[in-house]
Amino acid sequence: MTKVTIAKGDGIGPEIMDATLKILKAANAKVEFDEIEVGEKVYLSGNTSGISDEAWNSIRTNKVFLKAPITTPQGGGYKSLNVTMRKTLGLFANVRPCRSMHPFVTTKHHAMDTVIIRENEEDLYAGIEHQQTDEVIQCLKLISRPGCEKIIRYAFEYAKQYGRKKVTCFTKDNIMKQTDGLFHKVFNEVAAEYPEIENEHWIIDIGAARIADTPEKFDVVVMPNLYGDVVSDIAAQITGSVGLAGSANIGASCAMFEAIHGSAPDIAGKNIANPSGLINAAIMMLNHIGDGDTAELIQNAWLKTIEDGIHTVDIYNQSSSKTKVGTAEFADAVINNLGQKPAQLQPVAYKGNGSFKMPVYKRKQQANKELDGVDVFAHWVGTNPEELANQLLKLENENIKLQMITNRGVKVWPNGFEETFCTDHWRCRFAKVNESKVDKGDIVELLSKGVVHGVDIVKTENLYSFDGERGYSLGQGQ
Ligand code: NAD
Repeated sequence: MTKVTIAKGDGIGPEIMDATLKILKAANAKVEFDEIEVGEKVYLSGNTSGISDEAWNSIRTNKVFLKAPITTPQGGGYKSLNVTMRKTLGLFANVRPCRSMHPFVTTKHHAMDTVIIRENEEDLYAGIEHQQTDEVIQCLKLISRPGCEKIIRYAFEYAKQYGRKKVTCFTKDNIMKQTDGLFHKVFNEVAAEYPEIENEHWIIDIGAARIADTPEKFDVVVMPNLYGDVVSDIAAQITGSVGLAGSANIGASCAMFEAIHGSAPDIAGKNIANPSGLINAAIMMLNHIGDGDTAELIQNAWLKTIEDGIHTVDIYNQSSSKTKVGTAEFADAVINNLGQKPAQLQPVAYKGNGSFKMPVYKRKQQANKELDGVDVFAHWVGTNPEELANQLLKLENENIKLQMITNRGVKVWPNGFEETFCTDHWRCRFAKVNESKVDKGDIVELLSKGVVHGVDIVKTENLYSFDGERGYSLGQGQ
């Protein structure tokens, strides 16, 4: 028996959780439950995180959490429990299988069976933002090698475990050559360790367009956090109903499973909600804890129920549905079908599947890191970059010279174009001269001169090379 923490959540949460637990019990799943309270009541009791210390203890002890959707009260400084969970428990992988159920659920895509694996902890989601001038705010996009390795390796291990043929990577590394470039580079490195699995890379814009158009050509797709956020919703939607999908958030020690929809307060308490999203989440949970047999039993019974046309109102359709049922009746229909397989939809086969162990990340030997210069960001309200350059030339010393000025990444000095629109935020690159050695003392001296000459420096970024390889981007037009 595996002890699992459960939370019934808010809105339709209790109804769909009761339906799901009834199916798990009827299928003799080898799990027992430890119920906690999270969500609206906890928030409104004054706990802005939506979760108590005892609830944390239960999740950290059991390490497996099946969660019904919760309502996050608007305003009032309440923090998203999902974001808190992901970050605090290190749930680095978000896994969302998106499968169409044609012709039983209406969709334009009849053969879609794609799993979106989204990096869950890094990227712009670190939420480190700063206003630096009147007109400019920045958000830091952080991508780490261990972060890339973990999620990409997870995608290949997942493909191996579930008999998938191909892993596709989406990035925008033609533009973000450093951050997305690292994700793509690590993808190539890890892919080489799985020669039996096909791999490919797409630039995210055309990749997302292709998923929306011909999703049947994609199998497992892995991508950084923000792209994954958008693409996983598109992928779920085009299967015909976001109400059917479950998702898993996987960490090195803990994992959380949930439906992808919210608490649907508009239909709460009416016994009309579709419990399929949470049922599918519970199936992923069973696979995770190594009970592939029960996962298979329940999923095939669920597929058969959908195929029998026994549908809740959200997917009920005169032409493809036979019986309109409520939440509890749908669960009973799934229970009745335990042991049966769908005839037309492809049945699943998870027998013998278990969770897979991810190798521990091994840090590479430190590179030889050399300081090449510094990018100084200045708040300046002039319009002619020549004037700014004249001020900045006063900050140089014999080791470090002004090399270029960019505005929103576009080179405006030397030899800028009058047509380039400039805002009040200027990136001024000071770089070493020929073979000169730059040290942090040169940068401190430069900044002190900036104060003396009245340059409003709002931020600096050191320029490093790692084993001789440039670790910073060039300016557009440089
Ligand atoms: P929602 O997903 O709750 O509802 C959107 C629409 O889909 C509604 O019309 C709803 O009735 C319908 N719907 C959703 N799930 C359904 C189901 N299982 N069966 C039938 N119909 C279903 O999204 P929302 O209205 O934007 O958000 C409502 C609340 O849920 C908000 O407080 C939001 O913060 C929260 N939320 C929670 C989670 C989570 O806990 N993981 C995720 C998303 C939203």
